[in-house]
Amino acid sequence: MRTLRAIPLELTVHPAPPLLEVRGEAYIANQDFTALNAQLVAAGEKPFPNARNATAGTLKQLDPRLVARRPLRAVFYAVGACEGIEFATHAELLETLARFGLPVQQLWWVCPDLEAVLRCYRDEVICGYDMARDLRSRVPYEIDGIVLKVNRLADWPRLPAKTRAPGYAIVHKPVPWITPAETVLRAITVQVGRTGVLTPVAELDPVFVQGSTVSRATLHNEEEIRRKDVRVGDTVVVRKAGMVIPEVVEVVLARRPPDAQPFDFLAHVGGRCPACGGPVVRERIAGGAIEEVAWRCQNVAGCPAQKTRRIEYFAQRKALDIEALGASWPRSWWSAGW
Ligand SMILES: [Zn+2]
Repeated sequence: MRTLRAIPLELTVHPAPPLLEVRGEAYIANQDFTALNAQLVAAGEKPFPNARNATAGTLKQLDPRLVARRPLRAVFYAVGACEGIEFATHAELLETLARFGLPVQQLWWVCPDLEAVLRCYRDEVICGYDMARDLRSRVPYEIDGIVLKVNRLADWPRLPAKTRAPGYAIVHKPVPWITPAETVLRAITVQVGRTGVLTPVAELDPVFVQGSTVSRATLHNEEEIRRKDVRVGDTVVVRKAGMVIPEVVEVVLARRPPDAQPFDFLAHVGGRCPACGGPVVRERIAGGAIEEVAWRCQNVAGCPAQKTRRIEYFAQRKALDIEALGASWPRSWWSAGW
């Protein structure tokens, strides 16, 4: 850490608190990243795929001289253990760290109420979805979202933590900021759900989308495939709906193979349930706020796919939470003829 010039060796406050643990993140600015890669290429070495990767790779280096040569910077945004100092708000904490000579993010706003949060989001973050003016154009590194935090630290313990995130902070990524990933759709398979609904799934060439590699994406239903005119062999744009479930957004028509055929759902499953061979019927399904038309397996009692999904549903964490009961047990029961 001592070789990172962004991190001061001494705080600019006297007397300094006896103990101050600060938390932050290292990064490489866009401009520095371009220069670093040009340097590597000129030296006959392999360039880094992205700045995040270059930063992580550099911090793993055991040779401090090499780390010192890399243009790493840092920002600090939180404190851990500290003695002799207290903060009432998150804003106060950031201001204090800056006063101590630690690099902190400069672009943050304190909003007195939710109306102000929305106003700030419109005017300072997305700026009318204008790429040339939005928040991304004002920071020297790549970002794909923002963090909203509760300012008053006394409120933090009252907000229950989520599985992998604290309760007092939430990440938001504006949808137009998400870089779409393109890949080839190799096949369409059909999954049978707990209620017998047949869901088409796109089998894709693995592609990196918003932080993870994706090789399958939902196509929702027959209607959706027709509306987007998705065909096997197409190059498609993939993103994660609500940051979690990968979905096919659209087809890149310019790259459609000349022999690609319109997808015929019923012919694809041969007019039967792909799991049990039972009859399927087109039904209107009311699923929460959305209503959709889908094909449904009518073999409620005998369809192994439906039975497996029902047991999974029953045993899941949110229901009876039976850890050992996943999908593999029921599958072995059905194949043993139960
Ligand atoms: Zn079935």
